[in-house]
Amino acid sequence: VRATRGGEEVKAYVPSMGQIFLRRFQLVTQFRQALEDGQVSVHYQPKVSLPGKHVLGVEALVRWQHPEFGRVDPDEFVPAVEAAGLVGALTSFVLDKALDRVRRWMDEGLRISVAVNLSVRNLADAEFPGKVADALTRFGVPAELLTFELTESGVMADPQRALPILRELHGLGIELAVDDFGTGYSSLAYLRQLPVDQVKIDKSFVLGMGTDLSDLAVVRSIVELGHSLGLTVVAEGVEEDVARDQLEAMGCDVAQGYLISRPLSEERLEAWLQARTARSFDRQAEAVLTL
Ligand code: C2E
Ligand code: MG
Ligand code: MG
Ligand code: MG
Repeated sequence: VRATRGGEEVKAYVPSMGQIFLRRFQLVTQFRQALEDGQVSVHYQPKVSLPGKHVLGVEALVRWQHPEFGRVDPDEFVPAVEAAGLVGALTSFVLDKALDRVRRWMDEGLRISVAVNLSVRNLADAEFPGKVADALTRFGVPAELLTFELTESGVMADPQRALPILRELHGLGIELAVDDFGTGYSSLAYLRQLPVDQVKIDKSFVLGMGTDLSDLAVVRSIVELGHSLGLTVVAEGVEEDVARDQLEAMGCDVAQGYLISRPLSEERLEAWLQARTARSFDRQAEAVLTL
């Protein structure tokens, strides 16, 4: 793109539609190979309890280090992979990595759960719960240590299809969380019918609550609504001490965000756990990690 500013020619890189389509096409066609070539990895972001600051679990977040494009964000490639019908491969890749991680923690006497993000397409695959049950058996991980995060829009897209699958997953003992809560159609009546255990307040409200009273009101009402339905309430996007303190005062149960930790590679997560936590063993010789 060429433009003139004050008679001086400036060049800015603005990709054309053609370039955007080409890149998307490349991402989609290269995805399977990228999984095999080790370009795709899983990072983990800790979740801590409020006010106790126990490390309850981690969320698995996929990362793609592309040889040509560099780091490609999941917000870009996950929708492309979904649209191309390849999300089954993505989910099983992330699930295997995540369960392997939990298994190794179990071997060290640590009880840390892992949350994996699902796509709307997973909830349209009648064989998905069976595949998950197989993976749990393969890694010897109890279902209680696995959480699936799904967005409201993912469930609402096709509730007839998604509901039986969610019930089956829940029946296995897996925790279910509604992600990015507050951004979708949030039919409160509908939330009651879903077999969910947790709501995650969308980070846009949590980020805004320090300066915007309406964001603060949304956060407060989600905490109240969640609790009145017997759900665990998780806040994502906790970047400031003030936000953490406000959430704690409201009775929000769990916090996740840059204040606690960014998503970390496996190696860096290990270092984080070692450096930031005290390991106190209870009678079952299960470690409780406290910040
Ligand atoms: P999400 O599941 O809502 O994940 C939270 C996103 O917020 C992550 O972005 C995380 O890095 C970011 N985040 C965490 N704490 C903070 C904070 O304090 N401040 C701010 N500003 N951001 C924070 P990420 O890793 O880029 O992932 C984006 C989205 O991509 C995820 O949103 C999820 O919807 C999707 N995604 C990521 N991994 C997977 C996956 O394995 N499978 C599927 N289907 N989707 C995934
Ligand atoms: Mg999530
Ligand atoms: Mg979210
Ligand atoms: Mg999101």
